[in-house]
Amino acid sequence: MKKTSIILGIIFIIILSIIFFFPEVLYNSAFGQNVLLKMEGDQVAKFYFKENQVEKDTIYMKGVIYSNTLEDISKVFKANPTITTLVMEEVPGSLDDEVNLAASQEIRKHNINTYIPENGMVASGGTDMFLAGKNRAAHSTAKLGVHSWSGGDQAALDFPKDHKEHKKYLAYYKEMDIPLDFYWYTLEAAPADNIHWMTIEEIEKYKVLTTNSFSELLDIQKRLASNAFKGRGTGDNKEAQDLIKNYFNKIGLEKLNDSYITPFTFEDENTKKEREGVNIIGHLRGRTFPNKYIVIGAHYDHLGIINDTIYNGADDNASGTSALLYLANYFTKNQPEHSIVFAAFDAEELGLHGSKSFVKEPYIPLKDIKLYINFDMISRNLNNEIYVVGTYPYPQFKTAIATVAEKSSLVVSYGHDNPNDKTKDYWMYSSDNGPFFERGIPNITFSEEDHPDYHKATDDFEVTNPEFYINSVKLIKAFIKTIDQKFPN
Ligand SMILES: [Zn+2]
Repeated sequence: MKKTSIILGIIFIIILSIIFFFPEVLYNSAFGQNVLLKMEGDQVAKFYFKENQVEKDTIYMKGVIYSNTLEDISKVFKANPTITTLVMEEVPGSLDDEVNLAASQEIRKHNINTYIPENGMVASGGTDMFLAGKNRAAHSTAKLGVHSWSGGDQAALDFPKDHKEHKKYLAYYKEMDIPLDFYWYTLEAAPADNIHWMTIEEIEKYKVLTTNSFSELLDIQKRLASNAFKGRGTGDNKEAQDLIKNYFNKIGLEKLNDSYITPFTFEDENTKKEREGVNIIGHLRGRTFPNKYIVIGAHYDHLGIINDTIYNGADDNASGTSALLYLANYFTKNQPEHSIVFAAFDAEELGLHGSKSFVKEPYIPLKDIKLYINFDMISRNLNNEIYVVGTYPYPQFKTAIATVAEKSSLVVSYGHDNPNDKTKDYWMYSSDNGPFFERGIPNITFSEEDHPDYHKATDDFEVTNPEFYINSVKLIKAFIKTIDQKFPN
């Protein structure tokens, strides 16, 4: 054996040992690999349905993208044309970027949405694949990692800007409609042997999510309106209370007296008996005016079970409740100037008792509530029309609403707030805005005209209109942001 072969052999053994004992060196060590190798063994990407899954509309994925992934994913889509969503549970990268980009194009070709679930993570090549989703959403605990790549001993940024490796990625991001700045940002974010977890601002800046968690908005509405929640009748709506309470806790809203739960009693109008209800209240401190409050409220109760029939109340008012959680999540991540109180009211259907109790025993001075914003039924309307109720008594808010209405695709109408207008029902006492109005607290309600399923057992998630709903929530969010930044007087 020649001396050189022995030396080469030794070098080979040394390299193998290094890789064996220090697998981190495989972090993206060459062209075409873009992976954070932290999974045990060789956990290559697998696609699967969950055991108890009834509808085959969601496929789950876990593992490192590798040479077979394109073939695997193509087979899955072919066998299950009903798939609309790919849930990426833990996808730390890809061992073969050519395959990864081709598999990702396959995802886009089928108009699949991508989602990163609670405690899920994608990184490196996994992040690239995530971007192929037509609609992209992530749970608030999800992590998205990015980093640079290297070729040989050169870092990506050492290559000329028009190098073919750069071009490959730029073409991909362009195809996925991601701002091209995103690519150069990933190269700066962390070197190839490290990882950078994207911040909320970065995720927003580079349009990584298309929906701003709107899929969670719809998910929660759907859950609240599912039979498991038994129609959320007062006295029998513990499941809904837990969902709201746990959500407030997860996003880190402040509690009142160690608990979000505030029980109250009221007299049932029919039986004249005392009953108990439960409001769920969370508090978010404002940056500039911590002692001035915007209260945002929606009733979470509905009619419950009547004659063995569940009244799910998807529009009334699972829509408002889920919107409340969405906004609470948004504002905890984008601190407002004023403090915001998020109130999920109970026993609205029995006579606005939750909101009556809130203003009767306020834990913040009523005089410091600058505005109460109410939403009750905001997820469907055949004329694409939403009503803003309260600008007749409180015209100071009309400019702010008109400004955001201009950018909305909804038809924004005013009314139901003038007692002299006999052409329309008067809504100033029809929902949880009533008790605030009685106390002279400015209030604005977002709601639609009644529909055929109003207070019927057919008010189900399936007959709501997600697009209308998302647009309602966008409108409300924009309105709150506008008045929070410059409160109209
Ligand atoms: Zn209602």
